[in-house]
Amino acid sequence: MKKFSIAIDGPAGAGKSSIAKILANKLGCIYIDTGAMYRSVGLGAIKQGLNYQDEEAVSLLMPDLDIKLKMSEEGQQIFLNGHNVSTEIRNDEVAAAASKVATYTKVREALVESQRTIQNETSVVMDGRDIGTVVMPNATLKIYLTASVNERALRRFKEYEAKGIAVDLAVLTEEIVARDKQDMERKISPLKKSDDAVEIDTTYMTIEEIVERIISLLNERM
Ligand code: C5P
Repeated sequence: MKKFSIAIDGPAGAGKSSIAKILANKLGCIYIDTGAMYRSVGLGAIKQGLNYQDEEAVSLLMPDLDIKLKMSEEGQQIFLNGHNVSTEIRNDEVAAAASKVATYTKVREALVESQRTIQNETSVVMDGRDIGTVVMPNATLKIYLTASVNERALRRFKEYEAKGIAVDLAVLTEEIVARDKQDMERKISPLKKSDDAVEIDTTYMTIEEIVERIISLLNERM
């Protein structure tokens, strides 16, 4: 199979990472979770005791953050300065910090550069908010995944429930709405559908159906 790249963008909880992981597995290529990279910057700022609302302080911290994605038997793991932070980045505080630091130019420049370096080398499925618009404008296939806010909040709620974490669905819904707003209204690289992306509303679709649809679209493009 010749080299290809799939860009998957969309709001929180639309199913991007679950689908991207399965696709990468089936297609035998690597998966880059760019949200995990922004989360790692947010976590790095919190761990340093910085106020992540302070753009200058976070920008100055960037050269000291070494963020690496590595494959393992348990799936993809993310390392921040040599520490595995794959679990630690998955909470609401870090998600809010990620969404804030993602509005800073220096943070985006650094992360986009490393994302482009990876995709130059190999076939990838990459998910995020600006993959089709900024990181891989020439991607073989661009997908924009959506789902209603209620469905997205419910999916997150079930994920927490499965982990035994008690959360309030109404609070979760508010957090998702706030994060969507921040991601869509920021000045640099806001979340939006690229003109040439195929939009898939996943509200009433199963993961298998979405994966099938994307693979058949990729086959058409190749
Ligand atoms: O996808 P995930 O929820 O892990 O992303 C966390 C945050 O990182 C998003 O809310 C968004 O602000 C930011 N992000 C981004 N660009 C990307 C991926 C994530 O701005 N390509």
